[in-house]
Amino acid sequence: MDAIEKLAEIFKEFPGIGERQAKRFVYFLMSRSGAYNENLSSLITDLKKEVAQCKECFRFFILNQKKEKLCDICANTNTDTSTLMVVEKDSDLESIKKSRVYNGKYFILGGLVPIVEKTTKSRVRIEELKQALSANKNLKEVILAFSLNPQGDHTDSYVRDQIKDIAQKLSIKISSLGRGLSTGTELEYSDNDTLKNALKNRQ
Ligand SMILES: [Zn+2]
Repeated sequence: MDAIEKLAEIFKEFPGIGERQAKRFVYFLMSRSGAYNENLSSLITDLKKEVAQCKECFRFFILNQKKEKLCDICANTNTDTSTLMVVEKDSDLESIKKSRVYNGKYFILGGLVPIVEKTTKSRVRIEELKQALSANKNLKEVILAFSLNPQGDHTDSYVRDQIKDIAQKLSIKISSLGRGLSTGTELEYSDNDTLKNALKNRQ
C-alpha cells in the first residue's frame, strides 16, 4: 500500500465517509501546503493530550488546568441527579445539551446494538450503565434516547432488558423518548422543538 492508499483507508473509517470521499480528502491534503498538513497532524496529536473521558458519563471533554476527572455536567451541582438520559454518542449529548430542554445527567452508551449481533457486551457500556444506576442514590428515572430507526429500537429493547431487574430493585422508572421524533430521525440532527416534544412525550 502506498501513502495515498494508507491515508485513504484511515479516512474510510470515519463516520459517514466512503471510498470516494476518502480519496478526495487525500487529494485535498496533497494540494495543501506542508504547514497546513503539519498543523493538522499536530492538532490530531494534541487532541488526546487535552481531552479526557468523564468517569461518570463517559463523555469526552477538554481538560482544564485542574485536570478534573468529571465533565462540566457531572461536576455541576445544578444538574438534576434524579434523571439519567442514556444516549448513543457524544454528538447526541451535545445536541440535547445545546437545546436546553433537559437538565439531568447523561450516560453515553458508546454505540447502538446491531440487530444481528450476538455478542454485544464488548461494544456498548451496559455493565458501566448498571453501575451508574446503583451508584446514584437520587436516581428516579432513566430515559433511553436513541435514534428512531431499527437499530435504535433494538438498542432500546436490549438496554431495557438488561437494566430492568436493577431498575425494579431500586424503584427507578425506565422511559423512552416519545414519538415526537419521526421515524428515521437521527437524534443528533433534531431541532429544539422536536427534542422538547420527544422529552415531554416520553413513555
Ligand atoms: Zn460527565
